Amino acid sequence: MAHKTLEELNQIAKDELAKIEGKTLSPKDRMAIPQQEMPTGEPLARARSMGEVATGYTVEQAIVEANRCLQCKNAPCVNGCPVSVPIPSFLAEVAKGEFKKAVDIIKSTNLLPAICGRVCPQEKQCEAQCIHLKMGHDPVAIGYLERFVADNAYKLSQSALVSDNISKPSTRGKIAVVGSGPAGLAFAGDMAKYGYEVVVFEALHEIGGVLKYGIPEFRLPNSVVDREIEGLRRLGVKFQCDTIVGKTLTMSDLQSEGFIGVFVGSGAGLPRFMGIPGENLNGVLSCNEYLTRVNLMGASQAINDTPLLNAKNVMVVGGGNTAMDAVRTAKRLGAERAMIVYRRSEEEMPARLEEVRHAKEEGIEFICLHNPIAYHADEQGRVSEAVLQVMTLGEPDESGRRSPVEVAGQTVTLPVDLVIVSVGVSPNPLIPSTVDGLEISKKGTIVINDQMQSSIPTLFAGGDIVRGGATVILAMSDGRKAAKSMHEYLS
Ligand code: FAD
Ligand code: SF4
Repeated sequence: MAHKTLEELNQIAKDELAKIEGKTLSPKDRMAIPQQEMPTGEPLARARSMGEVATGYTVEQAIVEANRCLQCKNAPCVNGCPVSVPIPSFLAEVAKGEFKKAVDIIKSTNLLPAICGRVCPQEKQCEAQCIHLKMGHDPVAIGYLERFVADNAYKLSQSALVSDNISKPSTRGKIAVVGSGPAGLAFAGDMAKYGYEVVVFEALHEIGGVLKYGIPEFRLPNSVVDREIEGLRRLGVKFQCDTIVGKTLTMSDLQSEGFIGVFVGSGAGLPRFMGIPGENLNGVLSCNEYLTRVNLMGASQAINDTPLLNAKNVMVVGGGNTAMDAVRTAKRLGAERAMIVYRRSEEEMPARLEEVRHAKEEGIEFICLHNPIAYHADEQGRVSEAVLQVMTLGEPDESGRRSPVEVAGQTVTLPVDLVIVSVGVSPNPLIPSTVDGLEISKKGTIVINDQMQSSIPTLFAGGDIVRGGATVILAMSDGRKAAKSMHEYLS
């Protein structure tokens, strides 16, 4: 598909708007409106820039796209949303140009819409249920509209926002949150609304968890995350960075400081490796290390303390969002060949479809049905070659995807000077290993009941620390559920 400029896309929207303005639209009319394309930077230019790839709908595009919604009575899209955003209601407001009303509706169940609009896998959630799809059309672009509304509501008068989020006196007692990722943030927002004094403790120097240290600027700008966090501050939530609970502060310290409940949202940031020969060579990194060094430590600039090598042949192992973020970052940092090596076929890739499409447009090479089995070093001991086993697809495994099977005797060797391993993560082990009496599963996750409560009654948990690596919206949904349960328990 040829790349269209913002002006071209906006003209398309204006033409559509002229056709529908002032008309009472029938379902057939709405079905006939084509899905509005998200404007993006020109692929080759953006592949050298950290600027945001998708630049967001224009007002005209948003209104046209929202008019595609059929306002289905049973709203199947809402069932696909883990936090049950009232989707048709907010779309009806966008269709009328009432963006402030639309954001209020979204925020009734989702406090971080600018983030979710950018990173949720809508094609597997709300949009997968949209009735348009069942009729053979593109779904309503719910995620793009959520993002549009969230971004544009912030441009409304500041007073409107302040009155939205005004902090209420905290009278119900002190609550500690461990970790400032989406689980901790969603929990903190709801507990502040219930009237608790909430302090979020974060090990890193930045608030936001993976939203800051993992997902790169070109996909989710830090300024967007900061805006959403500002909303929580207005609700009265306090943040304390550079504090590792379990080291800097223990759980008993929290108790003696008067915290009556603790929510653990410490995530799954422990990288997994494959255990193959050469994996400990210089130049083989975990994806988390690579992205954290670039996103939070300025490693792309040689003047910083921990600069990265200016790599030309970069191989990223894996097919998830994390792998896409790493490979597209490597391209932006100057890689001539930036490659994804994935052991299944592209169809089985867990990454969001949009990320795969953007990566391809930017010149990322996809080497599917290959799996690394060894790395070789040059004379300096740095990785210089990857040996890849050729794979084929066998029967479906427990994940429902066809399993990768080796093709005996077939390997290929690739020249590489940086390898980034992105084959999954495990729960951060510090809280599970330092809190006495906390029940932990075999996978290292915190065991919780239906109410998100752990074996310690005042300790609740949610997000990746209970699920293993999952998604932003599931972490948020856990945080919200835990807040409701903890409030009921403490009341
Ligand atoms: P996290 O976001 O991991 O936050 C946990 C926080 O706790 C961290 O800041 C950590 O420093 C802090 N912490 C840990 N231990 C302690 C301690 N002892 N004391 C104090 N603080 C502590 N999901 C999507 O839905 N869409 C995407 O596009 C997407 N892309 C991703 C890209 C990357 C590179 C990665 C790594 C993940 C991606 N995910 C995506 C997954 C998603 O980001 C996670 O599922 C989600 O962030 C989990 O939220 P969480 O709050 O449980 O944990
Ligand atoms: Fe609108 Fe699609 Fe939801 Fe129906 S399923 S209410 S068309 S977004």
